[in-house]
Amino acid sequence: MTKKPLHFEQTLFPVEDDCLQVGGIPLTRLALRVEGSFYAYDRRLLTERVAHLRRNLPGKVHLHYAMKANPMPAVVQHLSSLVDGLDVASAGELKVALDAGVVPEEISFAGPGKTLRELESAVAAGIVINLESFREMEAVSEIGHRFGIRPRAAVRVNPDFELKSSGMKMGGGPKQFGVDAEQVPLMLQRLSKLDIEFRGFHIFSGSQNLNAQSIIEAQENAVRLGIRLAADAPVQVATLNIGGGFGIPYFPGETPLDLAPIGERMEVLLDLLQNELPGANLVIELGRYLVGEAGIYVTRIVDRKVSRGQVFLVTEGGLNHHLAASGNFGQVIRKNYPVAVGNRMQGEEREIASVVGPLCTPLDILADKMDLPKAEIGDLVVVFQSGAYGLTASPGAFLSHPGATEVLV
Ligand SMILES: *Cc1c(COP(=O)(O)O)cnc(C)c1O
Repeated sequence: MTKKPLHFEQTLFPVEDDCLQVGGIPLTRLALRVEGSFYAYDRRLLTERVAHLRRNLPGKVHLHYAMKANPMPAVVQHLSSLVDGLDVASAGELKVALDAGVVPEEISFAGPGKTLRELESAVAAGIVINLESFREMEAVSEIGHRFGIRPRAAVRVNPDFELKSSGMKMGGGPKQFGVDAEQVPLMLQRLSKLDIEFRGFHIFSGSQNLNAQSIIEAQENAVRLGIRLAADAPVQVATLNIGGGFGIPYFPGETPLDLAPIGERMEVLLDLLQNELPGANLVIELGRYLVGEAGIYVTRIVDRKVSRGQVFLVTEGGLNHHLAASGNFGQVIRKNYPVAVGNRMQGEEREIASVVGPLCTPLDILADKMDLPKAEIGDLVVVFQSGAYGLTASPGAFLSHPGATEVLV
């Protein structure tokens, strides 16, 4: 009654002597260095991921990193040397971006409900503010007067199309994000009377997409919408940010996104943009795609139990460190993330086991009835595809257990 591994097979991290290697270090050794449960991000994999994008996408495309996927300062610092800009979603992220030494013109700030204080920081920093409402536009203008600084701003548009077959839709229909496309001309009329440096448009339609055709279609729609809206712009459009949405495989049957057709189509879009809006840069912003596969979550087994024939491996950390792997971060039907036992990747014996965290809730599952090597107390459970929406997207205070550490190796 052995089951096939019910997870996406990861191949990015090498295995030596049956032990997973991270950044050239055996996981067992790394675990001696780090206290408690931890996330490890592999510097080389981050570098390779950006190189892979650069190989497949036209050289003229500006690549931004959306920091909310993983705001660890060392990760942001490393990526900021490889990409063309950063997208932040709060004043806290803005601080990390500026600390990393990124020039303000290359930082943009999106997100609904920016507070006056956040907008003040953003104006003072000289970054590009993606205006999500008329209120934000008026506030930014007022702050600019008060500070004697000319704010830089773009308009975030809630597009009149959707990103098809997307994990998370963030555009089309009624949304809290951006300004409805049909209201943008009115907004631009008002903006032209204010002392704001208009930069362009930000059109983000969705996230976690593995279908190249859907992404191509959304990108084309975004470029066409940007061109249409530019007719009412007070000055030439300097940047057109068409979002991202590039997904990574998590579950059985999912395959990595094919970048080649996207790259080819972007050449055509760049030509179109060049003709219609000369001088405008085309920006894409990626979070998960840049960092997701470069990170693992690691937690030790503290107990091994058999309940009515079913094996439970109880780990030190669970959904308090890694909500997404427990299936409670936007999944409709719970599926297993790729999970392994890092210090015995193949193992000698195998068994069907469930990995559960220490929290007193049935939601705290890291692996549900998976085919795993027979593991013991003290072994290291590894969850792959954990570099994005991991620690900072988890309810760390729930049940007051110790937090997890993050290392970049
Ligand atoms: C969250 C977000 C992203 C990143 O999405 P990923 O799926 O991680 O690539 C990009 N842009 C905006 C505006 C976002 O809110």
